[in-house]
Amino acid sequence: MVSPEILRDKKLYIFDLDGTIYLGSKPFDFAVRYIEKLRASGRCVMFFTNNASHSQSFYYTKLSALGFDPQRGEIMTAGDVTAEFIMRRRPGASVYLLGTSELRRDWRVRGIRLITDDDVVLGERADIVVSSFDTELTYEKLTHAVRQIRLGSEYLCTHPDRVCPTEDGFIPDSGAIASAITTATGVVPQFFGKPGRETMEMILEVTRRRPSELCVFGDRLYTDIALGKKNGITSCLVLTGETTEAELRSVPSDSMPDIVLPSLAEADEATFG
Ligand SMILES: [Mg+2]
Repeated sequence: MVSPEILRDKKLYIFDLDGTIYLGSKPFDFAVRYIEKLRASGRCVMFFTNNASHSQSFYYTKLSALGFDPQRGEIMTAGDVTAEFIMRRRPGASVYLLGTSELRRDWRVRGIRLITDDDVVLGERADIVVSSFDTELTYEKLTHAVRQIRLGSEYLCTHPDRVCPTEDGFIPDSGAIASAITTATGVVPQFFGKPGRETMEMILEVTRRRPSELCVFGDRLYTDIALGKKNGITSCLVLTGETTEAELRSVPSDSMPDIVLPSLAEADEATFG
């Protein structure tokens, strides 16, 4: 554990969204206030979500509506990181994307060559299969993904989250869909989003910051906090979302967050108090 006062010396504050700065469609007032104060004091903020079922534009609209006054450059999703990886490291590759129509539209606009279900039926095979949090998943799409991977397509996954919390309870997320594909193919994908190395590399590249200048806030141990732990970034767990205090007691020491706070209200106190 590290003293929360270390938060005073940071330059870039990375925030998870759900469970950290809002719950569903309810913003935490103290989060709105803290982020406002960070910007006013010349510090930078970034909103990073693994939820790639929506695009950057969706989050821009949502965060604006909830009062966070975001800039477009402050928002990044696991879908953005995966798309960047493909454009930089696999230029020109054809992609079969098991994702929402919103994500597919976003990737097409970026210039990624997407293979459709009709193409697959006609015998085409993509260079890369990417699975994501596809809330429009069908058995046909799952079959197409599995068959192409079995025939040798590279397999990537936007983010490893197993479930997504909603107002009505948990729903299966990207990691659960990937598990089905792995069971059917024997292939484990390369995962992007938090806590992947590519995610941190892209954040550092885009913001031109050093790891010591960053801190990451989140409510989940195996994504938000692991992003910090694996990359030497100060990590702060808030207890406003998924992780309970009781769960923390059984966490191995190398996975323990550097800082644990009830909420971002206490982060505000530690930074400005
Ligand atoms: Mg969260």
